[in-house]
Amino acid sequence: MTGVILYSAGLVLPITAPPIAEGAVAVRNGRILHVGERAWVRRSLADRGIAPTEVHWPGVLTPGLVNAHSHLQYTGMAEVGRGRYHGFEDWAGAFDPVYERGRDWAADAADGAAQLIRSGTTAVADVVTDVEAAAALHDARLHGITYWEVMSWTNADWARTGRRQVEDALDALPAPPGTGLSPHAPYSLEIEPLLEIPDIVRERGGRIHIHLGEAAFESEFAHEQAHAWHKAGLTSFQELRDAGFGTSATEFVDQLGVLGPDCHIAHGVYMSARDRAILRERHTSVALCPRSNAVIGLEEPPIAAYLREGNPIAVGTDSLSSSPSLDLLADVAELARIARSQGYTDRDLHARLLNAATLGGAHAMGIDVGPDRTGYLAVGALADLAFFDVPSGPDAVVELVEAGAGRAAATVIAGELRHATPAFDASLPANGDTA
Ligand SMILES: [Zn+2]
Repeated sequence: MTGVILYSAGLVLPITAPPIAEGAVAVRNGRILHVGERAWVRRSLADRGIAPTEVHWPGVLTPGLVNAHSHLQYTGMAEVGRGRYHGFEDWAGAFDPVYERGRDWAADAADGAAQLIRSGTTAVADVVTDVEAAAALHDARLHGITYWEVMSWTNADWARTGRRQVEDALDALPAPPGTGLSPHAPYSLEIEPLLEIPDIVRERGGRIHIHLGEAAFESEFAHEQAHAWHKAGLTSFQELRDAGFGTSATEFVDQLGVLGPDCHIAHGVYMSARDRAILRERHTSVALCPRSNAVIGLEEPPIAAYLREGNPIAVGTDSLSSSPSLDLLADVAELARIARSQGYTDRDLHARLLNAATLGGAHAMGIDVGPDRTGYLAVGALADLAFFDVPSGPDAVVELVEAGAGRAAATVIAGELRHATPAFDASLPANGDTA
C-alpha cells in the first residue's frame, strides 16, 4: 500500500466545510483520504493502523486554485499585455501583428503552465488556437479542460470544410485533461457554426466555453425592441445589428442553444440584468478576468450584481497578452476592490471570492463532480492543494484574498508536490518522500 502523507497547516480552508484551525488533509494515492482537525485526523488514522508522514505548514492550506479562463499559448506575448488600450478593437489591433509573426507556441504554453503551478494553480480552462499549444495541460499534468478555439468561419466555408476540421481538431486534443470547443465570440462566427458547435461537443460529452460580454457593442441594443430575428434569414450577429434587431449578444447565443450547464463564459462585463438572469436560468458560470478587462480598457465587470443576484462565478487571468501575470489571486484581489467600489459590503465577500477561485472554477468546467472531482477539500476528491505564506490568524481569508498574490509556498497536484519554496522545503521531513 502506498504511504499516507498528512499535510497539516495553521488554517485549512476546505471550501465545502467551515475553516479548520490547526487542520490537516491526509493524502493517499493522489486522493484525499481524510480532512479535519489535525489531532482528530491523526487519531482516526491511528485507529485504522495508519502512521502517516507529516508535513506541517504554519500558514494557510486551500484547494488548488482553479483558473477558469486563460490562453497559455500567448504567454510569450507579454509585450502586448504591457500596453494600455481603449477597448477590444484597439487591443486586437495590437495583438494581431504580434500573433501573426508567430512564436514557439508549445514552449510558450509550457512556460505558462509552469507559471500557473508556481502560483498555486492546479486546474485551468485553457483556450488553444494553434495545435502546437494543445498539449500544455496534458504535459504539465494540470487538471481542467483544453478548449479548441473556433473562429472566423462563414456559413458557407463551415459547411464545406469547417465542421469536419473542427471535429478532427477536437478529437485530436491530448487527454487527460477534459476537452471541449470554444466558439470564440458571437461576433466572430456566423450562425451555422454557432448552432452546430454545441452539438459537436455535446455528442461527445465535452465542454463549451465562449467569450461573451467582452466588447462594448455586444450590449448596444435595447431589449424592448426584441424581434423574432432568428426567423429573418440573417447569417450573423453583425447582420443582425445592421438590420436593427434588438437583441443582446447573450440573447443571441442563448437563442442558438450555446448556453447551458456544460458551458461557461469568459468576461461577462457588458451584461444587463436580463443577460445575467439568462445566465442563471441556463446554469452558465461566468469567469471574471478583471485585470485583463483593465488592460484592454473595458469597464469593470458587474461583480456586485453577480454576487447579489446569485450568478455562479469563477475567476480567470486571461493570457499575458492582456494581463500582467497568471497569478489568479491578483485577479481575486481586484474583484474584492471592485465589489466594494460597487457597494458590496457584506462580510461574506472574501469567502465568496475564494470560493469562486476554487470550487467556482471547477464547477464552471464540470470537474467539481464525478470520480476526478477537484476544487475543494473533501474525502475522495483529487489531492489538489495550495499552501500560502499567509499567517493563519483571524484575518487569514481577508489577507489571502486581498494580498495573496505571489505568496504560494507549495502546490500539490493529484498528491504530487509540484512546487515548493525554500521555506516549504524546510518543513519537509528529511527522509520523507512526498512525491
Ligand atoms: Zn480570452
